[in-house]
Amino acid sequence: DPPLNEHDVQFAEEVTNAAVAALERAYDLENAVLGQEQMRHLAETDPLTNCFNRRALMEKLEQEMDRAARYATMLTAMMVDIDNFKQINDNYGHLVGDRVLKQLANLLKREQRSVDIVARYGGEEFVVLLPETTNTESRNFAERILRRVSAHDFGESGNSVKVTISIGIASYPDERVSDGDSLLKLADTHMYRAKSEGKNRFRD
Ligand code: GH3
Ligand code: MG
Ligand code: MG
Repeated sequence: DPPLNEHDVQFAEEVTNAAVAALERAYDLENAVLGQEQMRHLAETDPLTNCFNRRALMEKLEQEMDRAARYATMLTAMMVDIDNFKQINDNYGHLVGDRVLKQLANLLKREQRSVDIVARYGGEEFVVLLPETTNTESRNFAERILRRVSAHDFGESGNSVKVTISIGIASYPDERVSDGDSLLKLADTHMYRAKSEGKNRFRD
């Protein structure tokens, strides 16, 4: 082959530069997309428990209410509140309390179906949304997590903490429920009934 002249070298250089620029653009784009996903994840996640936060829950609740209305299916909300959590903090310390919150979140996530939504609603309160669930199914689900939670050793091995929860269940459609807020309000009312009737139980 004839040796490369200056023109060939220049051409090769241009091709290389264009390729480098294209790669850099692709890299920037990938970073931007990744960054956006990370931002979304951060915006909708509770940092302690890695569940959806309250803001994300309210968004998803509206979507699920719309869907339930449109397709005439049931939507169930469960309000889950740890019993005597203040006492757990007082007896074992705030760090153990935090750990219990994480462990409860993991337990709820283990029990959920892929369509369910587990969110931290407030301090020691979680909400689980169960789309397309009958009354019997949601009662069974509540029974199961009550059993799992009370049987589970929370805290750390060698210094385990016993935990129970109270659950309020509300379902749409119901004459008392017109939107997401009233669905949660009804679940909350039922949760308080579970508390006043002895805790470690569900009411619907
Ligand atoms: P009940 O059985 O009636 O629900 O009583 P409770 O003690 O669970 O409820 P209360 O509302 O009196 O106390 C809730 C406690 O939860 C008080 C607050 O300090 C604690 N808490 C809220 N958020 C966190 C948190 O992120 N970490 C820890 N460790 N504690 C928290
Ligand atoms: Mg509470
Ligand atoms: Mg509580």
